[in-house]
Amino acid sequence: MPSKLPAIAEAGPESESTATPVISVQDIVHRYNGRSALDHVSFDVRPAELFGLLGPNGSGKTTLFRILSTLMVPTAGRALIMGFDTAKDPAAVRRQIGVVFQAQSVDEKLTAYENLWHQGHLYGLHGSPLKARINEILDRVGLADRMKELVETFSGGMARRVELAKGLLHHPSVLLLDEPTTGLDPGARRDLWQYLQILRDQERVSVIVTTHLMEEAERCDRLAILNEGKLVALGTPTELKHEIGGDVILLDATRDAESLVQRISARFQVDAAVMGDKSRGNQVRIELENGHRFITGLVEAFPGEIQAVSVSKPTLEDVFIHRTGHRFWTETEEEAKN
Ligand code: ADP
Repeated sequence: MPSKLPAIAEAGPESESTATPVISVQDIVHRYNGRSALDHVSFDVRPAELFGLLGPNGSGKTTLFRILSTLMVPTAGRALIMGFDTAKDPAAVRRQIGVVFQAQSVDEKLTAYENLWHQGHLYGLHGSPLKARINEILDRVGLADRMKELVETFSGGMARRVELAKGLLHHPSVLLLDEPTTGLDPGARRDLWQYLQILRDQERVSVIVTTHLMEEAERCDRLAILNEGKLVALGTPTELKHEIGGDVILLDATRDAESLVQRISARFQVDAAVMGDKSRGNQVRIELENGHRFITGLVEAFPGEIQAVSVSKPTLEDVFIHRTGHRFWTETEEEAKN
């Protein structure tokens, strides 16, 4: 088993965009009982990249995660990890990947060190090399001074970091994490993301994270955005937001938003759309350069019809709306999230 990725270690940052992909997802289709969960999804993940799979509930993230972690075979298409086919050569793929599932897999009645000791044995590591690796990896995840304490005395964030260390113990080239910050408070979430960045930079692993949180997606080097099983966007967060160009204006219409959209479009020749959802007061959304200059004329043109106006720089949610025509969150999900 290779201890590190020589190809990655030798490659400079400038060559990474053209380097051989660490993961290659090729035209994957997955159906459950005939129902589509992934619909011709393709993308590559580069060496030492922090890559996000972003999508709302039901978009296919977990399905793709399970295919990449060799737990499921896709209906069609294939995924290669370090050149090995996840369906045809799962044992070789498993040696290349570390996996952190949503459900906790550490034993709380053991210390952090003991958890890793047992994990090491599963991978055929023993004695002083294993001891050295445990010390090294617990240091990386900021737990060196707590390694002899029982995991049950740890905070949620610390227990997750033991999971990370477990996933990394056998020097995988790729770390796959399924919604790793679920159940963590905002401080522990930020910490965990910092550790993921450290692991990418210092261990040179490629980190693939599924998330439904925009603020987490913002931290990724690149993103694949999924919606209803389809890849709707691929790029760096900055690239994706730039594609919208200009600003996003949101208006709360007092009356019929549909009619207001038509009249705004006719009068100002801009692309306006209803972000309909009655409880939100019929919002109208406009993408426009220099949005602030447009506001005065707009409010004056439709007296009494506009209750509130906001102008903002595009977010990743705007990218999602731009690509799919609908919001990322349903209203119920948004309430549950807060
Ligand atoms: P996400 O992780 O983004 O929430 P999933 O991959 O879990 O998305 O789900 C994608 C689609 O596949 C959804 O429509 C979901 O209902 C369906 N699905 C997921 N798992 C199963 C399963 N075991 N059997 C049948 N349908 C499933």
